[in-house]
Amino acid sequence: MKVLGFTLTDEHRMVVEAVEDLLRKIRPNRDAYFKAIFEDQYFPDELWDKMAQIGLFGALVPEEYGGTGLGLLAMTLAMETFASQGLGNVLAVLTTMDAMALLRAGSEEQKRHWLPQIAEGKLRLAFAITEPDAGTNSFKMRTLARKEGNTYRVTGQKAWITGVDRADYVLVVARTLPYDTVIEQGLPRTYGLGLFLIDTHAKGLSFRPMDTMGIEGYRQFFLFFDDVEVPEENRIGPEHRGAEVLFDALNPERILVAAMGVGMAEYALTRAAAYAKERRVFGDTPIAAYQAVQHPLAKLKVQQEAARMLTYQAAEAFDRGLPPAEIGIYANMAKYLASETAFEAVDRAIQTHGGNGFVKEYHMIQMLAPARLLKTAPINNEMVLNYIAERVLGMPRSY
Ligand SMILES: Cc1cc2nc3c(=O)[nH]c(=O)nc-3n(C[C@H](O)[C@H](O)[C@H](O)COP(=O)(O)OP(=O)(O)OC[C@H]3O[C@@H](n4cnc5c(N)ncnc54)[C@H](O)[C@@H]3O)c2cc1C
Repeated sequence: MKVLGFTLTDEHRMVVEAVEDLLRKIRPNRDAYFKAIFEDQYFPDELWDKMAQIGLFGALVPEEYGGTGLGLLAMTLAMETFASQGLGNVLAVLTTMDAMALLRAGSEEQKRHWLPQIAEGKLRLAFAITEPDAGTNSFKMRTLARKEGNTYRVTGQKAWITGVDRADYVLVVARTLPYDTVIEQGLPRTYGLGLFLIDTHAKGLSFRPMDTMGIEGYRQFFLFFDDVEVPEENRIGPEHRGAEVLFDALNPERILVAAMGVGMAEYALTRAAAYAKERRVFGDTPIAAYQAVQHPLAKLKVQQEAARMLTYQAAEAFDRGLPPAEIGIYANMAKYLASETAFEAVDRAIQTHGGNGFVKEYHMIQMLAPARLLKTAPINNEMVLNYIAERVLGMPRSY
């Protein structure tokens, strides 16, 4: 892997080599493997196990809680390397994000209980914030966690929740005070939210698959909470102030999503160039010699390299412990550029492949939905641009 202008440590290189080693082993059966993941929703356990073995689930976890302390840049490199071979592992991103919430706001007891299991790769965690009528504006959510003594009782509905069928727990964002009450009382919109780690087998919790595309190997679900009992000890962070915890956890998610975009673009551009060098349409000249084929790919290569630098910069800023508001600037810029580049690169790779771009064997058309998703989720790029306009350029908020 070419890494220009960035000094990687031996540990970082070791992580990349370990992931590449796994990918080499997969390569002989690549077509069958892709088919299983993309068409049969096969969950790639071996990817998960390898990540655990390398110590990636403990990357953000301090050693005292069983972590490896490899840091977010290591995880970033791993996700990019997987994606550069057309593979992703979204539950790993969500598990890392949830671990982050625990690290930032968990009590000592909670950290001792959850973090070692996460670091070992024994716990798979999903994340549930979106509701049918509260996506971009998640403060409007209705799922309510009412407190009764030492227990919360959760009622409501979530939608588009990825991988909850494969997860042991799901980190649920719920209202601890109804939205209308918060507004009536003149409290900030961010007040009255709670984060709860809920067992996916809890009584009263059920889920139904949605008919979606976008994340290979994983489905999305409606989640229904029918008076689900959650012990108070599963609430992460101070009462009513879950939003503060959440904001801290969003940066790692955005950075890892950016890493996936950078890797997807690598996959598309490498394969497009290789195909173009072989394909001859007029005489003996490969289509790779036509500048109309070259230039769009070259332009995207420039974009991809810029996205990679922003992504590493964001991960490094996180590892250096910069304030979340500062990391957020790079994390959002990286997510924006990486997702736009990934989608354009896959689109261009399909064009370069001509009709073969639509033949499944070439494994490019299947990448279109995952690449496109990065522009919409976990946050749409309009909101990312809003963030940059408001926080970096100091422009007013319009919504
Ligand atoms: C495949 C997939 C997997 C997902 N996995 C999860 C998951 O695991 N957990 C989870 O909680 N959620 C998940 N989601 C949900 C996802 O995060 C939301 O769909 C996304 O945040 C957008 O919310 P929405 O669909 O309600 O869009 P809406 O809020 O209805 O917005 C629609 C569009 O309006 C525009 N828009 C909205 N507000 C503004 C604004 N202020 N300024 C400019 N433009 C604006 C944007 O273009 C936006 O795309 C997933 C979604 C998909 C498709």
